[in-house]
Amino acid sequence: MSTVFLDTAPLIYLVEGTADLRQLVRLRLSEWIDADVPLRSSVLTLAELLVPAKKAGDVRRVYQYKTALRELLGGPLHGIDEHQAERAAEIRAQYGFSSPDALQLASAQAMGCDVFFTNDRQLRKFKEIEIIMMGIIFDIKRFAIHDGPGIRTTLFLKGCPLRCRWCHNPESQGFGIESFSVNGDSMAVGREISVDDAVRLISRDMVFFDESGGGVTFSGGEPLSQPEFLMALLEACGALGLHRAVDTSGYAPTSILLDVAAQADLVLFDLKQADADAHLRQTGVEQALIHENLRALCGTGVPIELRLPVIPGVNDTGLAALCNFLASLPKRLPVRVLPYHRAAMGKYVRFGMPVPLPDTAEPTMAQMESYRAQLKAEGVDVL
Ligand code: SF4
Repeated sequence: MSTVFLDTAPLIYLVEGTADLRQLVRLRLSEWIDADVPLRSSVLTLAELLVPAKKAGDVRRVYQYKTALRELLGGPLHGIDEHQAERAAEIRAQYGFSSPDALQLASAQAMGCDVFFTNDRQLRKFKEIEIIMMGIIFDIKRFAIHDGPGIRTTLFLKGCPLRCRWCHNPESQGFGIESFSVNGDSMAVGREISVDDAVRLISRDMVFFDESGGGVTFSGGEPLSQPEFLMALLEACGALGLHRAVDTSGYAPTSILLDVAAQADLVLFDLKQADADAHLRQTGVEQALIHENLRALCGTGVPIELRLPVIPGVNDTGLAALCNFLASLPKRLPVRVLPYHRAAMGKYVRFGMPVPLPDTAEPTMAQMESYRAQLKAEGVDVL
């Protein structure tokens, strides 16, 4: 049976994190606890964990954390001695990790742990212990042909800060694993998965990727909402030589987008609405960050494909503003127009959500052709 070392961050998430992060860690820990897997950690974890409570001078919280940690581990925390300090120095010298990270790994080894639970993807370079990082996905689609070149596996990460009124995957928007009542039965949407398990699932179809020029696409939800998990997936798939596409709304801190772009072979970037006020009304977020991010992305070498959903009567006017924005970008980008589909509207009914566009029709082929023609007439490179 494994012995698991708990790194600092998952435990901080457990007590200080957002609801979805708390849920992610709780789920993983409860599986281990149910299976009687021994859990271990070091005094360094406690030192980190207590900082916010000490800052706030909250003696009660300090006591609660210490007690909770002792109960979770079923015993005392591991102290760090001279041997572990020396081993940490070796790890630090070999991998360049920070001293706290190296000390945690040295402690884990000293305690005979064979699994290290963390949220730090850098530590995945350490191969002497199995490093586990988790994320939440809500679907995997094999043999996808519309999510980038060739045959692809698309992994859908859960959680999105936008609320597009035409969203095809409304069940993907909430962060964390959710439960919906469907025909009177409870249905869970989302599941936790480790980076390694996800990569194993993706790599099943490598032969098809190779033959078709395909690969893996990370979509959502908004995949950039789980940045460390996404980065670890991108790095692991990159190490296997897979073509990696990221499908994003572009709504994320610029630094995260650029880090992700540096690990991607293609970014599929959605542009949803040219008018700023309408964008806020129809998606729930400001457009400015998305536009700034696209400009920043143009400054990188990563290939970008813009994706414009076409929803009649909702976002198919204001082409001049859209074309002006495209012309103002530092690079000319190819654009793919995607027709709105009502098929997903059934999901809103099934999941007991209000149908957001009850009277909106799908665009006809003639409307799509006309839209494409207008864009081309404005000099846009339409795919
Ligand atoms: S960005 Fe995508 S997943 Fe998020 S709400 Fe909009 S359509 Fe849905």
